[in-house]
Amino acid sequence: MSRVLVIGCGGVASVAIQKCCQVSEVFTELGIASRTKSKCDALAEKLKSVSKTVVTTAQVDADDVNQLIALINSYKPDLVMNIALPYQDLTIMDACLACHVNYMDTANYEPENTDDPEWRAIYEKRCKEAGFSAYFDYSWQWAYRKKFEDAGLIALLGCGFDPGVTQAYCAYAKKHEFDRIDTIDILDCNGGDHGYKFATNFNPEVNLREVSAPGSYWENGHWVEIPAMSIKREYDFDEVGGKDMYLLHHEEIESIALNIPEVQRIRFFMTFGQSYLDHMRCLEDVGMLSTTPIMFEGKEIVPIKFLKALLPDPASLGPRTKGKTNIGCIFTGAKGGEEKTYYIYNVCDHEECYREVGSQAISYTTGVPAMCGALMLLTGKWNTVGVHTVEEFDPDPFLDALDKYGLPRRESHAPVLVD
Ligand code: NDP
Repeated sequence: MSRVLVIGCGGVASVAIQKCCQVSEVFTELGIASRTKSKCDALAEKLKSVSKTVVTTAQVDADDVNQLIALINSYKPDLVMNIALPYQDLTIMDACLACHVNYMDTANYEPENTDDPEWRAIYEKRCKEAGFSAYFDYSWQWAYRKKFEDAGLIALLGCGFDPGVTQAYCAYAKKHEFDRIDTIDILDCNGGDHGYKFATNFNPEVNLREVSAPGSYWENGHWVEIPAMSIKREYDFDEVGGKDMYLLHHEEIESIALNIPEVQRIRFFMTFGQSYLDHMRCLEDVGMLSTTPIMFEGKEIVPIKFLKALLPDPASLGPRTKGKTNIGCIFTGAKGGEEKTYYIYNVCDHEECYREVGSQAISYTTGVPAMCGALMLLTGKWNTVGVHTVEEFDPDPFLDALDKYGLPRRESHAPVLVD
């Protein structure tokens, strides 16, 4: 029996909400609150006839802490699931602390306005000290550790697939497969085809910022930064086939390096087709990925927001996307004195996801882990207070839940390694 408040009602949230409603013995009451209430109402209407979970809706501007506090105090949830955008992480964490409620999200904080001088000064100091220049990092949310510990509350960060399940795979490898892990390669392959020349699979603003940033990886205790898309490998993915993949900076590298400190090298690769890369480079070259407002015909516009308005809504890709995703981690290390390798991954079919929840696999592979993470917190399987990432908790019940609710694991004890 629990009462959960979900903030956001976009691609990922609508999958997470539908999955919560499939487990109505735990998620007995669900509040959905977002900027556009009509989207929440439409989803609640769809769920009324198919789930016992009692769903209610509300409007909220999650950038406004006072609005959030009023909403949380009126709904009185056991847990707030932040599935809005990374821009709202800190305001929602503040509101959860003020209302004494547990918190979770699917992506770490980044500011909406990267030109804000106050943020920029801290960011530039961090770039120099830490050695990577992505706009997002865990420092902002790790700064809440003591506040959550003192309050006896849990904040679970980044519980999607990557970050999220990939960290559970690392914790699982450490618990069951290795005494010592030497290297981790996280491989994110989307073999789906939506038929558009250019579209992003989740929020275009967040997605394009991530992939246009310099790449970086962790090696021997420090970051190595490289120009965007400058390290390319080919990999033959189970059920997808051969794909080009590129090394990116990704948020879970930072927390895995902290929590599994013996690992000598951690890299993250994502597959991209040539058409996607050509479009992205061109858009970047003409300034369309900029977050700095410009004046256009007497009106201020932010180029990347204008681009977002032109691109297909990721939610509309569902019915058009065919093919599969394959996301997982390859490990090298040793067990019982023997050197070994191990690969754990999930394959997810875009069309099956659409049949089940009306979304493509990118939203599905994020929304299902968000529901399973909430399940861990609500059933007390993960109960360490403080601010934590997924690899800090027992991976077994979480991976069992993923197996059961739509993202079953696959394993190989003799994987092809990435050079
Ligand atoms: P969408 O843009 O589809 O949805 C975002 C939702 O948040 C929308 O409903 C939007 O409202 C709402 N929202 C935005 N700003 C506010 C605000 N100020 N107040 C209230 N609601 C607001 O994004 P996605 O569903 O694709 O992504 C959701 C999250 O999941 C993001 O943080 C993303 O980074 C993360 N993600 C994580 C992954 C992982 O594997 N860990 C993978 C993919 C995504 P409106 O409808 O009005 O626009």
